[in-house]
Amino acid sequence: MNTDTVHAQDTQCTLFVVAAPSGAGKSTLVNALLEREPSISLSVSHTTRPPRPGEQYGRHYYFVEREVFEQEVADGIFLEHAEVHGNLYGTSRTTVNTLLAQGKDVLLEIDWQGARQIRQSKPDCVSVFILPPSRPELERRLRGRGSDSAEVIARRLHNSREEIAHAHEFDFIIVNDNFDTALDDLQAIVRATRQRAALQLHRHETLIEELLA
Ligand code: 5GP
Repeated sequence: MNTDTVHAQDTQCTLFVVAAPSGAGKSTLVNALLEREPSISLSVSHTTRPPRPGEQYGRHYYFVEREVFEQEVADGIFLEHAEVHGNLYGTSRTTVNTLLAQGKDVLLEIDWQGARQIRQSKPDCVSVFILPPSRPELERRLRGRGSDSAEVIARRLHNSREEIAHAHEFDFIIVNDNFDTALDDLQAIVRATRQRAALQLHRHETLIEELLA
């Protein structure tokens, strides 16, 4: 199969895109969602950012040198790619299209620039933006991570305004104040998306035919 031509609607699967400013709690929320909904596959991105303590190659990211990443861009391997906080990040076209072709829902944890590119190539994607409850709380969460330098934290705080300015481009916005409520909201979006008539009519074609007979 030519995976370039695979669209989520052909496979009855959904491509979820989740973005947020650094420190909004996006990764924790997404990991908890994946525990509740193990049938969703998380696409592992490529990045030029150095690994944080405990991060593993192939599990958290494919960590690559900038020259390698730039060559991969030239080779057209990315469905989307962007520079975020001074590092390059990209989503592999083959990874996403292969998972969709296998009948899996796929989740991308990417920034607003990547989300915008995905919306163009996969207009049926479902995008969610996570907001922190306040600026002091965003700052507290960023500092609390403990694995980034003061310079990195300052840059991420500064960049959060630009990320948040694009929240209106997303289908859904969740405020991550109470974690359990935010997780329930995220799961509700996934579950509601799966019940959309366009998908259900396809999935349950035989049932509907039988019920109409
Ligand atoms: P971090 O370095 O904290 O893991 O991620 C920094 C930012 O890069 C986050 O907003 C994250 O969502 C974004 N990011 C991670 N992977 C990708 C990707 O493949 N593409 C894009 N556009 N952004 C990404």
